[in-house]
Amino acid sequence: METAIINITEETQNQETIMEKIRAAGHIIRQGGLVAFPTETVYGLGADALNPQASEKIYAAKGRPSDNPLIIHISNMGDLEKIAKNVPKSARKLAERFWPGPLTMIFEKSDIVPLETTGGLQTVAVRMPSHPAALLLIESGGGFIAAPSANTSGRPSPTRAEHVAEDMKGRIPMILDGGPVGIGIESTIVDFSAEVPMILRPGYITADMIRETIGEVRMDPGLIPDDSGISPKAPGMKYRHYAPKAQLILVEGSKEHVQEKINQLAKEASKEGKSVGIIGTDETRDGYPLGIVKSIGTRTDGASIARHLYGVLREFDQLDVEIIYSESFSEAGIGQAVRNRMMKAAGRQIIEA
Ligand code: AMP
Ligand code: MG
Repeated sequence: METAIINITEETQNQETIMEKIRAAGHIIRQGGLVAFPTETVYGLGADALNPQASEKIYAAKGRPSDNPLIIHISNMGDLEKIAKNVPKSARKLAERFWPGPLTMIFEKSDIVPLETTGGLQTVAVRMPSHPAALLLIESGGGFIAAPSANTSGRPSPTRAEHVAEDMKGRIPMILDGGPVGIGIESTIVDFSAEVPMILRPGYITADMIRETIGEVRMDPGLIPDDSGISPKAPGMKYRHYAPKAQLILVEGSKEHVQEKINQLAKEASKEGKSVGIIGTDETRDGYPLGIVKSIGTRTDGASIARHLYGVLREFDQLDVEIIYSESFSEAGIGQAVRNRMMKAAGRQIIEA
């Protein structure tokens, strides 16, 4: 299959041209086809969420396990009622504050939502993204777009159209290229199908921001990295995921100790003939004399680290690095989401410096 990569950035064309291109993409969706598109979090792989055959194409293109449900994207509040039942007041409050934006909420599903879209569950995950191209695509694609991240299952989520092309070229008819995304990690997921709302996946919208709005919210105990053996509640969070090809090892501790430890580990691995990658920050990158060193962003701006995380992992994939040692990051603000993704990418391999 030929994959058209359609530029929808504003540098070389006017608004009307861009809108026309997005409407053409919406037509593909309404016909049951797949289109990859930018959102503010990561690139999504979209299909008509109410068409079971269309949803199945997503699983096939990604190689995604069929029990891993898809998030349905909507473009206006009124459409929530059509796919979700028993939406509590607290969820409405969150929607008012954070939609459109990087927040996904889970409810009981209505009858029009096929089980193919929800991975066989009676619940449905819903988000209203804020990216203008995503909103227009949803509207012109029929109002309900099922879209997981547009990567091959198990690879890091795409934050640029080039990443989508790496994974999806030849498998889907169209990629809308809106340039690099703003946030860079997936939406926060809050489950409202239980008594007390529960965060199933941390993201840009933090637990504190949610508590400020609705009071009590719990963290899925399966997310906390320990040896309890409890599985995360979101099916997608249980897979080793977001993962680079190389083995990734996180090194924790004070700044000086971490640098010293990483340098020592890099030296040992190089001696064994392994090709080594190092993930540092703008502040520390010059402190690593060995290996291929990449900065993930600056510690003065947690958002910059989130934005570059997946891109850096993909760059290392292309360099055929065998082992990556990474600094680790604090749990403040978006740091919790960054840490969660890094732990998953590392398969929870951590070394204390
Ligand atoms: P992705 O769109 O690739 O970021 O993946 C969507 C995430 O949402 C996965 O981790 C899914 O397991 C999770 N998810 C979607 N729908 C539900 C649901 N109904 N219940 C629990 N988790 C869900
Ligand atoms: Mg994903």
